[in-house]
Amino acid sequence: MKAKTLPPGLHRDTLAVRTALPASQWGENSEALYLTSGFVQPDAETSARRFANPQEGYTYGRTSNPTVSSFEQRLAAMEGTEAAIATATGMAAILLLGMGLLKAGAHVICSRSVFGSTLNLFAKEFGKFGVASTFVAQTDLQEWQAAVRPETRLLFAETPTNPLTDLCDIRALADVAHNAGALLAVDNCFCSPALQRPTELGADLVIHSGTKYLDGQGRVMAGAICGPEKMIADVFAPIVRTAGMTLAPFNAWVVLKGLETLGIRMRAQCANALAIAHFLESHPAVTRVYYPGLESHPQHALAMKQQSGLGGAVVSFDVRGSDPDTLRRHAFKVIDSVEVISIATNLGDTKSIISHSATTSHGRLSEQQRQAAGIGQGLIRLAVGLEHGDDIKADLARGLDKL
Ligand SMILES: *Cc1c(COP(=O)(O)O)cnc(C)c1O
Repeated sequence: MKAKTLPPGLHRDTLAVRTALPASQWGENSEALYLTSGFVQPDAETSARRFANPQEGYTYGRTSNPTVSSFEQRLAAMEGTEAAIATATGMAAILLLGMGLLKAGAHVICSRSVFGSTLNLFAKEFGKFGVASTFVAQTDLQEWQAAVRPETRLLFAETPTNPLTDLCDIRALADVAHNAGALLAVDNCFCSPALQRPTELGADLVIHSGTKYLDGQGRVMAGAICGPEKMIADVFAPIVRTAGMTLAPFNAWVVLKGLETLGIRMRAQCANALAIAHFLESHPAVTRVYYPGLESHPQHALAMKQQSGLGGAVVSFDVRGSDPDTLRRHAFKVIDSVEVISIATNLGDTKSIISHSATTSHGRLSEQQRQAAGIGQGLIRLAVGLEHGDDIKADLARGLDKL
């Protein structure tokens, strides 16, 4: 179904507020939530046409829904892609990506530093079906290039990474993928389209966990793939219709409304994050800060070019300590001293969230694997929210000043 017509050349912030299906006959200004599993057909002939071609009209909630369509069209407009398809979670979007593009014998190249469940999905679950995966260093283009095989179908990247904020050069990876006859998919969860549009840099497909910044208020799970209209309609939509990783209309409505404030939230959260990164860099109890917005970040120049001049809203830092036990004790002291920030592992919320990576997101790795990944016991990740920056700094100082 087509979005309502808007004048050409509108800015992304305007598209984020205005792109949607046309209003119903009641003229609602805020997009309607169509909470229905089925759609009544005017006659058997129309019903037959719609079942044969879902573009003709709505039939059943597993296939599509007007609220979900509005979310898909708004997100696609913001990413600058022709189309998008919504899924129940971010992981469901990556599952859909793999189901659409891979079959037994196919090969995937993926950064070693991507989201843990993504690693498991490619290595374990797709491995069961005869898909081979090679995991490479996020920042080493030569390793990506050297991993290419004749049967390579997909390069999968996430930038910046969690929690150490390493970037990859999307344009350079797109060249590696295309020279190999493969596609490049980028998980754009950390930057969102407010900062980074991977297809403008040559990526073929963009993955989203709508659970994070797109909702932005920590309420619902959602996901999406953005890409060319033909691929969305011919490759991915039939799988969603068959396999049912459909986004629920209520969740679609929440994320649709979340997109309206994405730009303004991201800019405010990035500004907060930069101020906090500077504060941490100057604190004597902090030995290292990982934040692409800082000039000390090894890929600062690439971040500024690739992420609209903004560093994102996730700041990680190492606290002082001489051995793993002391480091962990110090990190726990900082975390346990907060009175405002939430101790949790989510991110992309208006509420700032603090976590100890070595015992949460990376807790299932061995100490050796963690060391190799650069995740020490003194590492703390802060997903910066929308509280006043001075209050977040004061909350961190409570523990840091005691070390
Ligand atoms: C959270 C996350 C996912 C998975 O999204 P869900 O909505 O939790 O399934 C994928 N990629 C990244 C980078 C994430 O942070």
